Amino acid sequence: MSDAMAQRHLVSLQMDSEQAFSFQGHGSSNHYSSSRSHDTTEQKEEGALHTDHQPLDRLLESIGLGVWYCGLPFGKLTWNNTCKKHFGLSPDAEVTIDLFYELLHPDDRAATRQAMERSIAENSIYDIDYRTIGIDSQVHWIRAIGRCFYDDHNRPEHFDGIMVDVTEHKRVEQMLREQVERLEEFEMRKDEFITMASHELKTPITSIKGYTQMLQNRFKKAGDGQALYFLSIINGQLNKLANLVNDMLDISRMQAGKLHFRDALFDLDAVVLETVEHLQATTQTHEFSIGSLANVQVFGDKERIGQVIVNLLTNAVKYSPHANRVIVRISTDQEHVTVSVQDFGIGIDEEHRQKVFERFYQVRDSTDKGAPGLGIGLYISNQIIERHNGWMQVESKRGEGSTFSFTLPLIREAPGRPQGSPLP
Ligand code: ADP
Repeated sequence: MSDAMAQRHLVSLQMDSEQAFSFQGHGSSNHYSSSRSHDTTEQKEEGALHTDHQPLDRLLESIGLGVWYCGLPFGKLTWNNTCKKHFGLSPDAEVTIDLFYELLHPDDRAATRQAMERSIAENSIYDIDYRTIGIDSQVHWIRAIGRCFYDDHNRPEHFDGIMVDVTEHKRVEQMLREQVERLEEFEMRKDEFITMASHELKTPITSIKGYTQMLQNRFKKAGDGQALYFLSIINGQLNKLANLVNDMLDISRMQAGKLHFRDALFDLDAVVLETVEHLQATTQTHEFSIGSLANVQVFGDKERIGQVIVNLLTNAVKYSPHANRVIVRISTDQEHVTVSVQDFGIGIDEEHRQKVFERFYQVRDSTDKGAPGLGIGLYISNQIIERHNGWMQVESKRGEGSTFSFTLPLIREAPGRPQGSPLP
């Protein structure tokens, strides 16, 4: 096969490349008739093509694009210089299919052979990465893309395509993969640390709580008001610590898929009222009020839903240092019930609004002002609500306050109390 003839086939391939690389499906054949019809005028065209395609060759070489052409059945292969460079061959080297396989990395030979055979048998695109030793004696990753062309009787006639050096892509890909693996391992170790630390902290907290209670009883009997006051402060701080540790434990259980739920039908109004009442008893700075109730039942874990309400209420208090009102509302539509907690505190800028549901996310400004927390309460709440097939959302304006809400699917009306009955 002369160089000019090879070039002519390369041009045919390029003319056909759009069709080749968008080809899908099997069965229909790709005829190579345009090149075949040229065969009769080969001698005449040879000189002209040779000159015509030198710029094209130069271009292909300068951009590192190898182009190959093989008559079928495989024997001698026609490669441009770039292909030869990719395989460490000199420009005048003769290439055969046996040499091609021999120069491939041994681990890539079988897959390459299979890919070629499949492409020819199924009339599908051949697209494979393999390793070679390049002209620089280094291992290179090459990506080859091609296809088979068939004659009028659907017999495979040519197998042609391109190859390009993708070593750098592979290197970056490998580097990224290693970094992801390192990050995953780091994340795993961090999760293990959180689990271990929270378990280790839980035991002493429980023990201190027990002794505090014992002392409270003693001082009550002794009528020591001041000691009781100090103990109540210790107790309050212990509760905060216990809540943080519980959140950390929940996070690690969630990561391990071990957060358990005890699902049952329950009256949502009752859980909201109970939680609000309980928190109001320990909150002197803020006043909670109920804007509306819904008289509906939902299906889920009532403790966990209570935990979400506690989180929203404590945040409402924590992030409203200069406003003392918090309003809780329950509303329904045909299929859902929504519980919302409105405060008139510092609010959240739009850029942070959706991110506050992410793990460990905290708005810097709010934590700078001394609000304690780990940035996991809303993440846990959101996970709990999603586990109940619901969703959470936030409306907020910086400096004017926030309304956090969660929506759950409705089951049915609670018997005995008409929906929207007067508030207690
Ligand atoms: P934590 O309060 O422990 O930091 P959360 O996950 O409960 O963690 O909240 C994440 C962040 O969302 C908080 O750090 C705070 O910046 C912001 N945030 C939550 N609730 C409110 C609220 N009611 N008003 C203003 N900012 C809030």
